[in-house]
Amino acid sequence: MNGRPRILTVEDEPQLRHTLRLTLSRHGFDVEEAVTGTEALAALFRWHPDVILLDLGLPDLDGVELVRQIRASGNATRIVILSARGGEREKVLALDLGADDYLTKPFSMDELLARLRVALRHLGPPTASNVHDFGELQIDFLHRQVHVRGQAVKLSPTEWEILKALVSEPNRVLTHKTLLRQVWGPAYGEEEHYLHVYVANLRKKIEADPRNPHYLLTEPGVGYRFRAD
Ligand code: CA
Repeated sequence: MNGRPRILTVEDEPQLRHTLRLTLSRHGFDVEEAVTGTEALAALFRWHPDVILLDLGLPDLDGVELVRQIRASGNATRIVILSARGGEREKVLALDLGADDYLTKPFSMDELLARLRVALRHLGPPTASNVHDFGELQIDFLHRQVHVRGQAVKLSPTEWEILKALVSEPNRVLTHKTLLRQVWGPAYGEEEHYLHVYVANLRKKIEADPRNPHYLLTEPGVGYRFRAD
Protein backbone atom coordinates (compact mmCIF):
# COMPACT_ATOMS: atom_id res chain seq x y z
CA MET A 1 0.00 0.00 0.00
CA ASN A 2 1.40 3.38 -0.99
CA GLY A 3 0.86 6.42 1.20
CA ARG A 4 -2.16 6.91 3.39
CA PRO A 5 -4.83 4.21 3.35
CA ARG A 6 -7.98 5.34 1.55
CA ILE A 7 -11.33 5.01 3.24
CA LEU A 8 -14.60 5.59 1.43
CA THR A 9 -17.45 6.33 3.83
CA VAL A 10 -20.93 5.61 2.51
CA GLU A 11 -23.35 7.15 4.98
CA ASP A 12 -26.39 9.41 4.59
CA GLU A 13 -26.41 10.67 8.19
CA PRO A 14 -24.57 14.05 8.08
CA GLN A 15 -23.52 13.98 11.74
CA LEU A 16 -21.96 10.54 11.59
CA ARG A 17 -20.35 11.30 8.22
CA HIS A 18 -18.76 14.38 9.72
CA THR A 19 -17.49 12.50 12.79
CA LEU A 20 -16.06 9.74 10.60
CA ARG A 21 -14.22 12.22 8.42
CA LEU A 22 -12.72 14.07 11.39
CA THR A 23 -11.63 10.92 13.21
CA LEU A 24 -10.24 9.13 10.18
CA SER A 25 -8.37 12.18 8.88
CA ARG A 26 -6.84 12.73 12.28
CA HIS A 27 -5.62 9.11 12.34
CA GLY A 28 -3.82 9.31 9.01
CA PHE A 29 -6.45 8.07 6.58
CA ASP A 30 -7.50 9.68 3.32
CA VAL A 31 -11.27 10.00 3.33
CA GLU A 32 -13.82 10.36 0.58
CA GLU A 33 -17.53 10.52 1.22
CA ALA A 34 -20.54 9.13 -0.60
CA VAL A 35 -24.12 9.74 0.49
CA THR A 36 -25.90 7.34 -1.85
CA GLY A 37 -25.20 3.92 -3.31
CA THR A 38 -24.82 5.41 -6.78
CA GLU A 39 -22.18 7.84 -5.53
CA ALA A 40 -20.46 4.98 -3.71
CA LEU A 41 -20.13 2.88 -6.88
CA ALA A 42 -18.80 5.87 -8.83
CA ALA A 43 -16.22 6.67 -6.12
CA LEU A 44 -15.19 3.02 -5.83
CA PHE A 45 -14.15 2.75 -9.46
CA ARG A 46 -12.76 6.28 -9.72
CA TRP A 47 -10.81 6.48 -6.44
CA HIS A 48 -10.09 2.81 -5.57
CA PRO A 49 -10.36 2.94 -1.78
CA ASP A 50 -8.68 0.33 0.44
CA VAL A 51 -11.74 0.01 2.69
CA ILE A 52 -15.40 0.95 2.27
CA LEU A 53 -17.34 1.85 5.41
CA LEU A 54 -20.87 1.09 4.30
CA ASP A 55 -24.11 2.07 5.98
CA LEU A 56 -26.80 -0.47 5.10
CA GLY A 57 -29.68 2.03 5.12
CA LEU A 58 -29.06 4.31 2.13
CA PRO A 59 -31.54 6.64 0.42
CA ASP A 60 -31.39 5.16 -3.08
CA LEU A 61 -30.09 1.63 -2.79
CA ASP A 62 -30.06 -1.08 -0.16
CA GLY A 63 -26.52 -1.46 1.23
CA VAL A 64 -26.85 -5.25 0.93
CA GLU A 65 -27.59 -4.81 -2.78
CA LEU A 66 -24.51 -2.61 -3.06
CA VAL A 67 -22.33 -5.36 -1.53
CA ARG A 68 -23.79 -7.81 -4.05
CA GLN A 69 -23.03 -5.48 -6.97
CA ILE A 70 -19.49 -4.74 -5.79
CA ARG A 71 -18.63 -8.43 -5.40
CA ALA A 72 -20.41 -9.37 -8.64
CA SER A 73 -18.08 -6.93 -10.42
CA GLY A 74 -15.10 -8.90 -9.08
CA ASN A 75 -13.99 -5.98 -6.92
CA ALA A 76 -12.35 -7.22 -3.69
CA THR A 77 -12.11 -3.96 -1.74
CA ARG A 78 -12.60 -4.57 1.99
CA ILE A 79 -16.13 -3.70 3.09
CA VAL A 80 -16.97 -2.93 6.71
CA ILE A 81 -20.73 -2.68 7.30
CA LEU A 82 -22.22 -0.03 9.57
CA SER A 83 -25.52 -1.49 10.70
CA ALA A 84 -28.33 -0.25 12.89
CA ARG A 85 -29.19 -2.16 16.04
CA GLY A 86 -31.80 -4.77 15.17
CA GLY A 87 -30.57 -5.07 11.60
CA GLU A 88 -29.19 -8.59 12.22
CA ARG A 89 -30.72 -10.14 9.12
CA GLU A 90 -29.31 -7.52 6.74
CA LYS A 91 -25.93 -7.64 8.46
CA VAL A 92 -25.62 -11.42 8.12
CA LEU A 93 -26.83 -11.24 4.52
CA ALA A 94 -24.20 -8.61 3.72
CA LEU A 95 -21.47 -10.77 5.31
CA ASP A 96 -22.65 -13.83 3.39
CA LEU A 97 -22.48 -11.80 0.18
CA GLY A 98 -18.85 -10.91 0.82
CA ALA A 99 -18.68 -8.00 3.27
CA ASP A 100 -15.67 -8.42 5.56
CA ASP A 101 -16.77 -7.12 8.92
CA TYR A 102 -19.39 -5.02 10.67
CA LEU A 103 -19.92 -2.44 13.38
CA THR A 104 -23.26 -2.00 15.10
CA LYS A 105 -24.34 1.60 15.67
CA PRO A 106 -23.63 3.32 17.94
CA PHE A 107 -19.96 2.31 17.95
CA SER A 108 -16.93 3.96 19.49
CA MET A 109 -14.25 5.50 17.30
CA ASP A 110 -11.68 3.25 19.04
CA GLU A 111 -13.64 0.22 17.91
CA LEU A 112 -13.86 1.59 14.39
CA LEU A 113 -10.10 2.16 14.22
CA ALA A 114 -9.44 -1.37 15.52
CA ARG A 115 -11.68 -2.86 12.82
CA LEU A 116 -9.99 -0.78 10.15
CA ARG A 117 -6.58 -2.00 11.27
CA VAL A 118 -7.84 -5.58 10.89
CA ALA A 119 -9.36 -4.88 7.47
CA LEU A 120 -6.14 -3.28 6.26
CA ARG A 121 -3.97 -6.08 7.61
CA HIS A 122 -5.77 -8.50 5.29
CA LEU A 123 -4.21 -6.57 2.44
CA GLY A 124 -0.69 -7.64 3.38
CA PRO A 125 1.13 -10.45 1.59
CA PRO A 126 0.13 -13.97 2.71
CA THR A 127 2.68 -15.61 4.96
CA ALA A 128 4.89 -18.24 3.34
CA SER A 129 5.20 -20.30 6.51
CA ASN A 130 2.83 -23.14 7.29
CA VAL A 131 3.26 -22.79 11.03
CA HIS A 132 1.25 -20.02 12.62
CA ASP A 133 2.16 -18.88 16.10
CA PHE A 134 -0.51 -17.23 18.22
CA GLY A 135 1.25 -17.12 21.57
CA GLU A 136 -0.09 -20.08 23.55
CA LEU A 137 -1.37 -21.69 20.37
CA GLN A 138 0.67 -22.98 17.41
CA ILE A 139 -0.97 -24.36 14.30
CA ASP A 140 0.92 -26.24 11.58
CA PHE A 141 -1.29 -26.24 8.49
CA LEU A 142 0.95 -28.58 6.51
CA HIS A 143 1.11 -31.33 9.14
CA ARG A 144 -2.32 -30.63 10.65
CA GLN A 145 -0.80 -30.25 14.08
CA VAL A 146 -1.96 -28.09 16.94
CA HIS A 147 0.06 -27.30 20.05
CA VAL A 148 -1.34 -25.56 23.09
CA ARG A 149 1.13 -24.29 25.68
CA GLY A 150 3.72 -26.72 24.29
CA GLN A 151 1.43 -29.78 24.35
CA ALA A 152 0.20 -31.52 21.19
CA VAL A 153 -3.60 -31.49 21.01
CA LYS A 154 -5.63 -33.99 19.02
CA LEU A 155 -8.53 -32.58 17.04
CA SER A 156 -11.27 -34.47 15.22
CA PRO A 157 -11.38 -33.85 11.43
CA THR A 158 -14.40 -31.56 11.82
CA GLU A 159 -12.80 -29.60 14.65
CA TRP A 160 -9.71 -29.19 12.50
CA GLU A 161 -11.70 -27.90 9.53
CA ILE A 162 -13.54 -25.35 11.68
CA LEU A 163 -10.32 -24.12 13.27
CA LYS A 164 -8.59 -23.96 9.88
CA ALA A 165 -11.44 -21.95 8.35
CA LEU A 166 -11.35 -19.41 11.19
CA VAL A 167 -7.56 -19.15 11.43
CA SER A 168 -7.30 -18.69 7.65
CA GLU A 169 -9.26 -15.43 8.04
CA PRO A 170 -7.65 -14.04 11.19
CA ASN A 171 -9.73 -11.51 13.15
CA ARG A 172 -12.46 -11.65 10.56
CA VAL A 173 -16.00 -12.66 11.43
CA LEU A 174 -17.22 -15.75 9.55
CA THR A 175 -20.99 -16.21 9.53
CA HIS A 176 -22.62 -19.46 10.62
CA LYS A 177 -23.61 -20.09 7.00
CA THR A 178 -20.08 -19.53 5.69
CA LEU A 179 -18.61 -21.92 8.24
CA LEU A 180 -21.27 -24.59 7.74
CA ARG A 181 -20.84 -24.54 3.96
CA GLN A 182 -17.08 -24.56 4.17
CA VAL A 183 -16.88 -27.44 6.66
CA TRP A 184 -20.01 -29.54 6.02
CA GLY A 185 -20.67 -28.64 2.40
CA PRO A 186 -22.89 -26.45 0.19
CA ALA A 187 -26.14 -28.15 1.24
CA TYR A 188 -25.73 -26.80 4.78
CA GLY A 189 -26.30 -23.33 6.17
CA GLU A 190 -28.98 -23.39 8.87
CA GLU A 191 -27.50 -25.95 11.27
CA GLU A 192 -26.03 -23.48 13.76
CA HIS A 193 -26.32 -26.00 16.59
CA TYR A 194 -23.66 -28.18 14.90
CA LEU A 195 -21.26 -25.27 15.21
CA HIS A 196 -22.13 -24.55 18.83
CA VAL A 197 -21.27 -28.15 19.77
CA TYR A 198 -18.00 -28.31 17.85
CA VAL A 199 -16.81 -24.86 18.90
CA ALA A 200 -17.52 -25.74 22.52
CA ASN A 201 -15.33 -28.84 22.13
CA LEU A 202 -12.61 -26.87 20.38
CA ARG A 203 -12.58 -24.34 23.19
CA LYS A 204 -12.13 -27.11 25.74
CA LYS A 205 -9.07 -28.26 23.80
CA ILE A 206 -7.35 -24.97 22.99
CA GLU A 207 -8.57 -22.31 25.42
CA ALA A 208 -7.03 -21.79 28.88
CA ASP A 209 -10.53 -20.85 30.10
CA PRO A 210 -13.18 -22.28 27.71
CA ARG A 211 -15.94 -20.18 29.28
CA ASN A 212 -13.97 -17.02 28.72
CA PRO A 213 -12.30 -17.73 25.36
CA HIS A 214 -9.33 -15.80 24.10
CA TYR A 215 -9.08 -17.23 20.56
CA LEU A 216 -12.50 -18.46 19.48
CA LEU A 217 -14.86 -15.53 19.88
CA THR A 218 -18.62 -15.70 19.48
CA GLU A 219 -20.30 -12.95 17.47
CA PRO A 220 -23.85 -13.27 18.81
CA GLY A 221 -26.41 -13.98 16.11
CA VAL A 222 -23.75 -13.76 13.38
CA GLY A 223 -20.94 -16.30 13.67
CA TYR A 224 -17.42 -16.67 15.01
CA ARG A 225 -14.14 -14.85 14.84
CA PHE A 226 -10.57 -16.07 15.50
CA ARG A 227 -8.56 -13.55 17.49
CA ALA A 228 -5.02 -13.56 16.16
CA ASP A 229 -3.46 -10.94 18.45
CA1 CA B 1 -28.65 5.48 6.86
